[in-house]
Amino acid sequence: RAKDGGRNQLQFYTSEMNARVTERTLIEGHLRNALVRQEFVLYFQPRIDCVSGRVVGLEALLRWRQPELGLVPPDRFIGVAEETGRIVEIGEWVLYEACRQVKAWQDAGLPRVPVAVNVSARQFRQSGFVQEVNGALLASGLEPAYLELELTESLMMQNVEGVVAAMCELKESGVRLSIDDFGTGYSSLSYLRRFPLDYLKIDRSFVRDMLHDAPGGAIVRSMITLGHSLGCRIIAEGVETPDQLGYLAREGCDEIQGFLCSRPVPVEMAQVLLTAGG
Ligand code: C2E
Ligand code: MG
Ligand code: MG
Ligand code: MG
Repeated sequence: RAKDGGRNQLQFYTSEMNARVTERTLIEGHLRNALVRQEFVLYFQPRIDCVSGRVVGLEALLRWRQPELGLVPPDRFIGVAEETGRIVEIGEWVLYEACRQVKAWQDAGLPRVPVAVNVSARQFRQSGFVQEVNGALLASGLEPAYLELELTESLMMQNVEGVVAAMCELKESGVRLSIDDFGTGYSSLSYLRRFPLDYLKIDRSFVRDMLHDAPGGAIVRSMITLGHSLGCRIIAEGVETPDQLGYLAREGCDEIQGFLCSRPVPVEMAQVLLTAGG
């Protein structure tokens, strides 16, 4: 009996592993044609200033409408795209498309707010990345000050010298730089001060736990103080309740982003939010 149980368990694990491999293969296959078939779209999530209550920025978030798989969330395909290297061309499309869209809104007379684009490690590390950014700005006609690049903490902590050099080049081009998901990537505090950062985004896991106990609140308060002493504006991610907003505003957080204000929305809806709250 024990033997049978063991075999069943083995079968269970095997089929689960198979399912995972199948899903990966499926995604990898479909990703190959996704760009030419124009299956990607950008959604936008607004960022709100804690003092004025106005929309002061939009984050571009990638969505994949795959005819057979449905709407595939980034967490299911960004990793695969990173591993296969396809993220480089996908990232280039995101960069250009985000710049193009925001420039189009500006040209239509909508409030001028910057757009934030997520950059993956592999994309950032390719040699032509800075030129790619400048190319997207040039092709779209967007002023550099309206583009923000979100780099993750883990990206920044590998090959610090190289990362600092690339970031300085980007700053010279006039774009803004953010550290995304702050608090999840084992930042070395002695390195942090070397990065030319404009924004620090507190990861939403800290915002979620912030009001549950005293340490949760203290951690967020220290992140705000730390970020300010580095000269950054602080953005809290994943703000879902008025209580969370209240605490963050009291502690001096500058901007919030989260379902409380808006989920990520398609272009037409983003335009409405911008018109109403920009
Ligand atoms: P991220 O850059 O930290 O983006 C924030 C994520 O949190 C988004 O998930 C957003 O929908 C979600 N979010 C925002 N407010 C709330 C909230 O109040 N509650 C909760 N529970 N979630 C909230 P999304 O769009 O699924 O993206 C997930 C991650 O995928 C992003 O995390 C980013 O790391 C990556 N990603 C998205 N678009 C791109 C892209 O164009 N390029 C690259 N390289 N990565 C991307
Ligand atoms: Mg982000
Ligand atoms: Mg984030
Ligand atoms: Mg995140």
